[in-house]
Amino acid sequence: MARKLPAKDVVIVGLGWTGAILAHELTEQGLDVVAIERGPWRDTATDFNIGYTPDELRYAVRRDLFLQPAQETMTMRNTTAQTALPMRDYGSFLPGTGVGGAGVHWNGHTWRFHPSDFTLKSHLTERYGAARIADLQIEDWGVTYDELESAYDRFEYLCGISGKAGNINGSIQAGGNPFEGPRKRDYPLPPMQMTYAPTLFAEGAKSLGYHPFPTPSANLSQGYVNPLGIAMGQCTMCGFCERFGCANYSKSSAQTTVLPVLMRKPNFEARCNSEVLHVNLDASGTMAKGVTYVDSSGVEWEQPADLVLLCAYGLHNARLMMLSKIGKIYDPQTGEGTVGRNYCYQTNAGVQMFFEDKTFNPFIAAGALGQTMDDFNGDVFDHGALNFVGGAGINCIPTNGRPIGFRPTPPGTPRWGSAWKKATKDNYQRAFGFSSQGSSYAMRGNYLDLDPTYKDRFGRPLMRMTFDFPDNDIRMSNWVSDRMEEIAKALKPKQYVQARRTKSWNSVPYQSTHNTGGATMGANPKTSAVNKYLQSWDVPNVFVIGASAFQQNAGKNPTGTVGALAYWAADAIRDKYLRNPGALVQA
Ligand SMILES: Cc1cc2nc3c(=O)[nH]c(=O)nc-3n(C[C@H](O)[C@H](O)[C@H](O)COP(=O)(O)OP(=O)(O)OC[C@H]3O[C@@H](n4cnc5c(N)ncnc54)[C@H](O)[C@@H]3O)c2cc1C
Ligand code: SF4
Repeated sequence: MARKLPAKDVVIVGLGWTGAILAHELTEQGLDVVAIERGPWRDTATDFNIGYTPDELRYAVRRDLFLQPAQETMTMRNTTAQTALPMRDYGSFLPGTGVGGAGVHWNGHTWRFHPSDFTLKSHLTERYGAARIADLQIEDWGVTYDELESAYDRFEYLCGISGKAGNINGSIQAGGNPFEGPRKRDYPLPPMQMTYAPTLFAEGAKSLGYHPFPTPSANLSQGYVNPLGIAMGQCTMCGFCERFGCANYSKSSAQTTVLPVLMRKPNFEARCNSEVLHVNLDASGTMAKGVTYVDSSGVEWEQPADLVLLCAYGLHNARLMMLSKIGKIYDPQTGEGTVGRNYCYQTNAGVQMFFEDKTFNPFIAAGALGQTMDDFNGDVFDHGALNFVGGAGINCIPTNGRPIGFRPTPPGTPRWGSAWKKATKDNYQRAFGFSSQGSSYAMRGNYLDLDPTYKDRFGRPLMRMTFDFPDNDIRMSNWVSDRMEEIAKALKPKQYVQARRTKSWNSVPYQSTHNTGGATMGANPKTSAVNKYLQSWDVPNVFVIGASAFQQNAGKNPTGTVGALAYWAADAIRDKYLRNPGALVQA
């Protein structure tokens, strides 16, 4: 029997990127907010200290900062014909845990999606006809890029993103991404200083007529004081970035951009090491009363609240909705139900090159320091004569030269012994790669639901993931890989090796922690779980914030859009919901 606590105005589930932003915005309104976080408290000085942060074995190999499967895992299969089995180790993606969430150990590539990504169904239907996307389950998001522009801007200025605008109010800017949607102003900081490999990549891409530009980065090019008055330092390009906390206050995260202000507020409280089991609904099932959680001593608590915000990461948001009976779980046979619908991922491929006459210093690197080209992303190029829709950003972002993981050796090299050592020595400074980060479009058979067999340590069903790469996305990725091969050849390496995307999705090798969908946003309650303000259609005092809202995934990293959606939802709660609590959009 859970012990009941005094009521709060707002309970937030998860204190990662979105939880911290929502907590800050709503405490500014004078609301009494509690965030309940499954993992431990984490701070820069104590947890990412320079004395031990660059420990590759602890953080990159043993994944010290990540969610462990003993705490929560899921089952996976490629098709409904298979029996899903539990992931005994996270591999393909690595969810975060603890204060700051996955934002602690992210790379920091910070993107806006293209305007057409938000109206994809209408856009592709108008341009190519409905038959072209008949095999897919593409939807519009119910919100437009123009509506989100100022929310993107706020997230970028919160973080101090370092980059170069490509389109300010419709005017194309030299040196930026000419394919991006119009923005009102430039990034808060200039791009990072480029290292040699991305510079060479950009030269090769330009020689073929493409438009490379510096990747917008949450690794800061200069010192910065954000709009909350929090100071951050310049990135030292230490190369212990992705999978690591930043010891230098140079990587934007909840810790470096929000928490120093948030934690001082008397109307905010963070409860760590406490896992929310479910949202509690009233007898009608249409209003949330709060949440039930378990603390680290196993004691169960009920936290009543007027408003419940799920900020637990896209996948966990979807599972919490299912466990709480908020909305109807999607059924791929009938196509009915929305929770779990349109789970998407990311369709990546790569190429690695080996040179004889060039020297790179791979240890001078950062999580998002590099060059990108968008010439084959989204629908910025004509798909008329092609047999797919979608595209990919092509990124040359060498993130590290760490001693355990970075061992580029050409094919045919033995995996151990003196020949392997010699090849490592010969190639360590003579190799670099680039990769395509491809869109992932929804399909009827790719979805999330609750596993009928396997349970977690609290006896709750695990979430079941059914996913494989759609044929459309494989064709897209291979076509982009052909373009990447042309770029590789233009760079004239001694040798290059391509890693092309093939079926089936495998949960073991790391690919990307860009899991999207499952609680998608839209204008139609039959095809979306939340409305355009990320408010549940079924339980209006529950908002669900994260990449769970994406109807399909673009060829870009998600967190710029996740951050924008957090501000967008906060504005809707403040300006609309608090004034007139109830459904903000009539179903
Ligand atoms: C290695 C890595 C690199 C990445 N690089 C990039 C990048 O370069 N660019 C980019 O755009 N994105 C990147 N990402 C993704 C990015 O980190 C996420 O998109 C972002 O953190 C999502 O924010 P969120 O608030 O939705 O979730 P999170 O930041 O993960 O926060 C969710 C929080 O909820 C907590 N929680 C979950 N369930 C419960 C529960 N039941 N009870 C209580 N608390 C709960 C979790 O512990 C977590 O702290 C990367 C991710 C990883 C792992
Ligand atoms: S590379 Fe820069 S941002 Fe990343 S951890 Fe090192 S100092 Fe921090």
